[in-house]
Amino acid sequence: MEEFPTFVTHLECSYTGKTYPADQLHGLSEAGKPLLVRYDLDALSKAINKEDLIGRLPELWRYREFLPVRRSENVVRLGELVTPLLPANKLQQEYGCGEILIKDEGRLPTGSFKARGLTMAVSMAKELGVECMAMPTNGNAGAALAAYCSRANIETYVFCPEDTPRVNVEEIAFQGAKTFLANGFINDCGRIVGEGKETMGWFDTSTLKEPYRIEGKKTMGLELAEQLGWEVPDVILYPTGGGTGLIGMWKAFDELEAIGWIGSKRPRMVAVQADGCAPIVKAFEEGTRHAELWQDAHTIAAGIRVPAAVGDFLILDAVRDSGGFAVAVSDEAINAAHQHCAKTEGILLCPEGAATLAALKQELTTGRIKKDEKVLLFNCATGLKYPMVSDHYTIDLNQPIDYDFIRTVD
Ligand SMILES: *Cc1c(COP(=O)(O)O)cnc(C)c1O
Repeated sequence: MEEFPTFVTHLECSYTGKTYPADQLHGLSEAGKPLLVRYDLDALSKAINKEDLIGRLPELWRYREFLPVRRSENVVRLGELVTPLLPANKLQQEYGCGEILIKDEGRLPTGSFKARGLTMAVSMAKELGVECMAMPTNGNAGAALAAYCSRANIETYVFCPEDTPRVNVEEIAFQGAKTFLANGFINDCGRIVGEGKETMGWFDTSTLKEPYRIEGKKTMGLELAEQLGWEVPDVILYPTGGGTGLIGMWKAFDELEAIGWIGSKRPRMVAVQADGCAPIVKAFEEGTRHAELWQDAHTIAAGIRVPAAVGDFLILDAVRDSGGFAVAVSDEAINAAHQHCAKTEGILLCPEGAATLAALKQELTTGRIKKDEKVLLFNCATGLKYPMVSDHYTIDLNQPIDYDFIRTVD
């Protein structure tokens, strides 16, 4: 069986810097903080150059040297395609701003970018002999966990808030997870997993409580840099729940700079939240490094309804170091952006993706995003998973067809 050329040296506590051996099962560090995977970047840079990527398949595993899986037989794949960067020229004209690109992550397996994190976490779980995984989820992570685990013969238990979008609950259960709805938020569901893991023999796959989902999400940074000719955009707007993607991309840019593939320019990272659940925005504005638990969280954008994030300081550090900011938008603005993007650009965003567009529009007005900046928005899931409010009409075929009426609708 083919061995991947891998360069993992150890894991490191993101808070204290304490190191832990690779190739063993880990959750959080002793300090209760996320672990980051570290690589021998010197050896990595000698083993691969940019041109080596050219002949490889357009999929996530093209970056295998940057990833932790040691043996190719352990890779659990469902077709993790490179996702397109779609220019939104009409919106750019309308707003009179710089180039707008939308990275459409809805094309990934299970219809969301959670597939990037879970293909990695489940592949590593397989490599390290895990037999049963459990997770609290607002929907998409659970769906990706269920799919990849079923493929890898790993048992799964998934816990969702009771008002998780119906389609998410159904796809999780349909793809083989034992699925439970609880009358609380994702952090309450996280407590079910945390308190039960010893007795139940579960591996806790909560956001950032295992080290490898970040590595999977890191590929967003590698991929967008490669797609832009090893340049980064001026601004990245990221809908932020647990923040895995923002933290992962930030790590990707550091690793790429360390091996000389990009320069020192970084995008300004903007964490977008909903005004009904904005713990990171509050901490950003108050100048603190940790965020308080958000009470009574509510927003139609379920993927970013995360009242407490264990990686809060990693999100806030990246946002601040990049010269970016954190911003909240209203559900009304999310709905308006959702509808407007679909009608003008033909791009069906998810509500969380729409939140990034709403934030762009808002911040072009305040001037925190400049009119000449090249901006990248993340659409994190397919819009087809979410309810759409639309105007349509019925026709009674027992009556003569009324073309005059059809002509009047708009
Ligand atoms: C998970 C999720 C997010 C938030 O991603 P994080 O990296 O956990 O912050 C945003 N949108 C959707 C659709 C999601 O499923």
